[in-house]
Amino acid sequence: MPRFFLTTAIDYANGDPHLGHALEKIGADVIARYQRQAGLDVHLLIGMDEHGQKVQQTAAAAGVDPQAFTDGVAARFQAMWARLGVAYDQFIRTTDAHHKAGVQALIGRILERSPGDFYEQSYTGRYCVGCEAFKQDADIADGRCALHPTRTLEDVEERNWFFRLSAYQERLRAHLEAHPGFVQPESRRNEILGLLAQGLEDVSASRARLSWAVPFPVPLSTGEVQGTYVWFDALPNYLTATGFPEAGYEARWPADLHVIGKDITRFHAVIWPAMLMAAGLPLPRQVWAHGFVQLGGERFSKSAGVKLDLGEAVDRFGADAFRYVLLREVPFDGDGNFSWERFAERYTSDLANAFGNLASRATAMVEKYRGGVVPAAPVPSAEAEDAADLAAYHTAMDGRQGWLLHEGLAAVARQTARANEYVAATAPWAVAKDPARAAELDAILASLIRRIARQLVQLAPFLPAKAQEAWAQLGAPGAVASVPFAQLAALDPAGWTVRKGAPLFPRPEG
Ligand SMILES: [Zn+2]
Repeated sequence: MPRFFLTTAIDYANGDPHLGHALEKIGADVIARYQRQAGLDVHLLIGMDEHGQKVQQTAAAAGVDPQAFTDGVAARFQAMWARLGVAYDQFIRTTDAHHKAGVQALIGRILERSPGDFYEQSYTGRYCVGCEAFKQDADIADGRCALHPTRTLEDVEERNWFFRLSAYQERLRAHLEAHPGFVQPESRRNEILGLLAQGLEDVSASRARLSWAVPFPVPLSTGEVQGTYVWFDALPNYLTATGFPEAGYEARWPADLHVIGKDITRFHAVIWPAMLMAAGLPLPRQVWAHGFVQLGGERFSKSAGVKLDLGEAVDRFGADAFRYVLLREVPFDGDGNFSWERFAERYTSDLANAFGNLASRATAMVEKYRGGVVPAAPVPSAEAEDAADLAAYHTAMDGRQGWLLHEGLAAVARQTARANEYVAATAPWAVAKDPARAAELDAILASLIRRIARQLVQLAPFLPAKAQEAWAQLGAPGAVASVPFAQLAALDPAGWTVRKGAPLFPRPEG
């Protein structure tokens, strides 16, 4: 079975999960579930980035040691992913012993294969503890970090290990040219090509006064052992998660897909592949950068600032509805808006009305006219109209032209609308009045159940629990997520016994 190894960015252990984290994790989970249904051996990696001065300072301010602090944060993230139905296969934490050993092994391998790529240099700059970074003039306003105006910038001079990123400029450019899919969407790829055209500067690989870190495996010439700087600690998680450097890691590496936010494209599309090139390791096949989700609507701005409580979102409509609405409203290749108003509108129009009505009417008619058993009948020619949208669904979902999850949902919504139009056009309640038209009614009812079943198979990556619940109400056998896409065309519901249950998507109150 072909393997598909995908990852999300690891989240910094300095706060709680928010809407931006949720968009990325849910999106990656949908991709993973789709690829599983497509028959691939999928491995979804998620995790936490737990080292750094900021974590150490936040822990100290809370009066706990950093390990206990990150244990608590990691537990809260994992609990939220479970609540949102994010079914990861592995959760890596950069404080894991095997990760720390893997980081040191990767650096050791670079020292061995490309000995000139690490060098010592002293550096003076204005350092922001909030960013854990030296700030350039453009990022400084009124003598303070533009992102952390309450913190004081420190003038810092120190000797560090540097990584010779500049040496990889041409090889990276050639790789992007030869592999247009390596960085996507296209807007992000162009950004990276522009960056490479401007020229790359070398980057720090170690830092002084960084004790909550993986020790850099080689001391400076002064004898000082420094902490490994964030990128050489965080980015290798994708590799150490495979077991690197232990034998067998090649079974999973290279990753097929890194799903990340657009703000960290440079690190994943420039620094990370350069590190791998320096170590003589294969590069990931694709870096996919999703956009940002902005919160809109009066309710947010007045009462909650720019925060949306994920727990509240799940409580209101359920995890599946939240997953659906978020990915329907926010294009996975760009920025989008999210508000309670849009949430309620989209939930009502797509789930409660269009799909919910279709499913409840179809099952009710099978119960009323055929004693609950779906009749055997030939496939009406009208069903052929769904073929184009089924193809559009796969084009949007299989990644070959990008991970356009919102378009996948739009393609299903068109099939739902068409099925509702079919009900109106064929008027089965009128056909049922004429016993001479029994075969016609059989064909209409079977077609409706088959269309709903097909839509559920396509919706299963987005609505894992609700799709299964609806599948069971159709009397369909087994698990909806185990129906191979290849069998959708031949799906035959004859003999299924429908069981009308509680409404799948109850209308919101008030
Ligand atoms: Zn800052």
